[in-house]
Amino acid sequence: MEKQYTVTLKCIFCGSTEFECDENNPPKDGEMIKCENCGQLNDFSAIKNLCVNKKVEEIKEEYITEVKNIFKKFGKL
Ligand SMILES: [Zn+2]
Repeated sequence: MEKQYTVTLKCIFCGSTEFECDENNPPKDGEMIKCENCGQLNDFSAIKNLCVNKKVEEIKEEYITEVKNIFKKFGKL
């Protein structure tokens, strides 16, 4: 079974997840996106990488827990 993960971008200034963006023109690497809450400009690539790295760590931990549980199950057999 394949899992799907979504990454939510967060404003580095206020933590808001709302950004002013044009749906027809999604932000690209190297562009700045404006936070809808505080109006600060965030470096799109920087916050994207930050959020993706955080997600990768979460996935790793989730995976490790899952593997440990599998071993526990086998241990009981
Ligand atoms: Zn903000």
